[in-house]
Amino acid sequence: MSKKIGIVGAGTAGLHLALYLQQNDVDVTLFSDKRAEEYASMRLPNTVAHFSVTIDREKALGVNHWQTGDVGYFGHHYYIGLPEPMRFYGDLRSPSRAVDYRLYLPALLTDFVERGGNVEYRAIQQEDYAALAEEFDLVVVSTGKGTGDMFPKIPELSPHTTPQRQLCVGIFKGIAQLPSRSVTMYFSPGAGEMIEIPTLTFNGMQNALVMENLPGGDLEILVQTKYDDDPEAFKTLLLEKLAKHYPTCFERIDQAEFDLANSSLDILQGGVVPAVRQTSIELENGTIAIALGDVQNTVDPMLGQGANAASHAAFVLGEEIVANDVFDARFVEKVDSRRNQRVHSATRWTNVMMANLENFPPEFGAFVGAVAQSPTLADTFTNNFNYPENQWDVFSSPERVAAFCASA
Ligand SMILES: Cc1cc2nc3c(=O)[nH]c(=O)nc-3n(C[C@H](O)[C@H](O)[C@H](O)COP(=O)(O)OP(=O)(O)OC[C@H]3O[C@@H](n4cnc5c(N)ncnc54)[C@H](O)[C@@H]3O)c2cc1C
Repeated sequence: MSKKIGIVGAGTAGLHLALYLQQNDVDVTLFSDKRAEEYASMRLPNTVAHFSVTIDREKALGVNHWQTGDVGYFGHHYYIGLPEPMRFYGDLRSPSRAVDYRLYLPALLTDFVERGGNVEYRAIQQEDYAALAEEFDLVVVSTGKGTGDMFPKIPELSPHTTPQRQLCVGIFKGIAQLPSRSVTMYFSPGAGEMIEIPTLTFNGMQNALVMENLPGGDLEILVQTKYDDDPEAFKTLLLEKLAKHYPTCFERIDQAEFDLANSSLDILQGGVVPAVRQTSIELENGTIAIALGDVQNTVDPMLGQGANAASHAAFVLGEEIVANDVFDARFVEKVDSRRNQRVHSATRWTNVMMANLENFPPEFGAFVGAVAQSPTLADTFTNNFNYPENQWDVFSSPERVAAFCASA
């Protein structure tokens, strides 16, 4: 049976689904509020790393344009800034990769168009959904975080009403890469965390710094101080804070070169309120609108889960669209039963991990001690960034954390 699918929003979720459906000869229309050529002049939207599970999906879609040997990274360093600092390293079984989304998303949009894909370039308004319901058998809403109000929040999975961290995120030049490309996750107890990610941007390989600052802590000023007001003052402040809280990053900085990598657009400041939403609603004529990506599940970026979960969910939804001819409540149930294990685990694990890092309960201290001493545990923990459901298996109760530590 021929089916017509409309996808609103051309981020990772919408594009991975559109490319999947195109590959499977499903009639799909993508609604994008941006053209490919508009991305280069945009402010940095995020700093996303794709894990190998997502890179495998990119290979399957024929959009694996960036070789991990050239731009990928191979493991995570962990630096805990206790009075006696702790450091350890975990290997990734297959490399991850971070490509500036101002390069990545237009490349995939161009792939879709060049393969004959149908894109309508316009921002869909609430009042447009009635017409979409008439035109399509299923409407997918993948418009990103902060746009999902048509899908009510699930309160028990959305415990936060304010951001857990104040984010200051940028792509910087002048930070020497580590000898083997890797992410470093730094923890400064009482102040926040920082994730340093080797990232391909417009002028080559640079480093993204994702500074996750505790509200009221010493680093919160990095969110209130604006680069554009006085770039030199901002850089001086940032260098001072890096020296104090993240010294092993500071040591690799060439202060004469240190700056935003491309332009003043390479910085993003603000906060993310995590939310898990109901996955579907009925539009006026009974057609289902189904939430995908950040619309369904918005999560703080500390553990790099949002886009990876969005891509997973896009493939599940794509497979079910291909396999089904009726798009009703049962269809949604089948999609949810397959995607929510990962999607909900990404949120639960991230929320718990952020609380652990803030409060350092005894079982979490024991966990840090165990992974610091056991390369096997460190590798398992690091590789499981691919599989948030495995992380939730470990972190959902103190007993499970203890069992993981004992497994060394
Ligand atoms: C600082 C930061 C770092 C991050 N790091 C990571 C990471 O390392 N790993 C990871 O997996 N995730 C990460 N994330 C999360 C990741 O960015 C999101 O989870 C992911 O981009 C969600 O994809 P999406 O397609 O759902 O939404 P988006 O990428 O936001 O795409 C939605 C698209 O829809 C468009 N749109 C919006 N409204 C309309 C409309 N009305 N009509 C038409 N189009 C519309 C938007 O402009 C946008 O292009 C990070 C996020 C941030 C903020």
